[in-house]
Amino acid sequence: MTPEEFRSAGHELIDWIADYRSNLDQRPVRAQVDPGEVRNAFSKQPPPTPRPADQLLRDLEQHIVPGITQVQHPMHFGWFPSNASLASTLGDIASSGLGTLGISWESCPALTEVEEVVCDWMRQLIGLSGNWEGCIQDTASTACLTALLIARERASDYSENRGGLQAEHKPLIVYTTEEAHSSVVKAALLAGFGRDNLRMVPMVGATRAMSGPALARQIEADFDAGNLPCAIVASVGSTGVTAFDPVDEIVEIAAEHAIWVHVDAAMAGSAMLLPECRHLWNGVESSDSISWNPHKWMGTILDCSLFYVRDVQHLVRVMSTNPSYLRSTVDSEVKQYRDWGIPLGRRFRALKLWYQLNIDGIDAIRERLRRDLDNARWFAEQVAQREHWQVLAPVNLQTVCIRHQPPGLDGDALDRHTLGWVNAINQSGAAFMSPSKLDGRWMVRVSIGVEATTRAHLEKLWQLIQAEVARG
Ligand code: PLP
Repeated sequence: MTPEEFRSAGHELIDWIADYRSNLDQRPVRAQVDPGEVRNAFSKQPPPTPRPADQLLRDLEQHIVPGITQVQHPMHFGWFPSNASLASTLGDIASSGLGTLGISWESCPALTEVEEVVCDWMRQLIGLSGNWEGCIQDTASTACLTALLIARERASDYSENRGGLQAEHKPLIVYTTEEAHSSVVKAALLAGFGRDNLRMVPMVGATRAMSGPALARQIEADFDAGNLPCAIVASVGSTGVTAFDPVDEIVEIAAEHAIWVHVDAAMAGSAMLLPECRHLWNGVESSDSISWNPHKWMGTILDCSLFYVRDVQHLVRVMSTNPSYLRSTVDSEVKQYRDWGIPLGRRFRALKLWYQLNIDGIDAIRERLRRDLDNARWFAEQVAQREHWQVLAPVNLQTVCIRHQPPGLDGDALDRHTLGWVNAINQSGAAFMSPSKLDGRWMVRVSIGVEATTRAHLEKLWQLIQAEVARG
């Protein structure tokens, strides 16, 4: 494709995207395809001859769009907001168009330095002190794995340079809760800690927040047993019920024993853009690493997860490889982001944030987040006031966990009822919510925060839910 051909096909594509985004609310929320349907729409063999770009647009419309669950749809209340602001989309397109290679400062000084700039802007915007430095990772899962790898190396005094974990005499222990995201367990297992060395610390009642005293007792018990407490992963806004572990208590306990504290604020990090929400992570300054995803509620298009540490030297010491072909004469003066995480090559992801912050502006982003908090409070009130309806967990941010329990219905019958009404709505395409288990029983998470969702959409959702339940 020549640049001129690109120009023409690109204009068409941008027009198509703009129309698509404008008319999104006319489409069903949930993908309306059966398993294999999208795959079977395509030839099993690669295209034998080139096809014009406008044919691909037709394929997008006919075969791909029906296979998309529309998470930008104003009636999407599933999982978590996965906003993709159009301003950040422009940054993503710019990143692709520039075709950069991020493997060293020299391979693209601008990529490194814009990333430095936007990570520092974001640090200021969430109220972290200048003791923190950050980089962009693909996901919070990768950030958590990175955190546990560097925690492991600090606790084991760089066992990677000896026999690794396999040669350590004391098992290294990681602490979290059942409420933590599944990526935390995955990271601990991948980092080699082993399931036997993963402690699920008890939680405090309906808050599902880690119990500080229980954590302290578990750590003491591990020392007594000859184990080495290594890392605590605190959930700041869990996926299930938006639980907030008490970071201030956790860092105090951790400090006594030099245990690493990683704060997983994947979803709730966006709330820290609002000064009035920052009490929810009091104590965060004394943690060791933090990750959060602008690619969720804040609305930077996937993938954009921020990872901050206080001890950059330690991070780099664990992650650095420095092969000769990547060295340059300015290495002592510059950052090499390949040494801040697992991958060597990186995209120019910083442009997504740079576009979004410049074009949308932080005031509008904050206003939208406040609107969503307000909508969540309103929705929770409607549910709580209605007979036989329950709000099952504190509404700390924008997620409302609900259940309808008619008299005499419990156990498996209640589960069938819950899954019945939510699946009926989801399958209809009119709205989408995530059923999820809480203490072994199904409930429904209504996660509010799509850029296009207004109070009117929530009113419509509440009517839909009540009508579905009445239909029984
Ligand atoms: N941690 C929490 C609290 C989350 O809510 C999620 C995603 O829902 C993750 C981690 C994983 O995020 P990612 O998809 O960026 O790996």
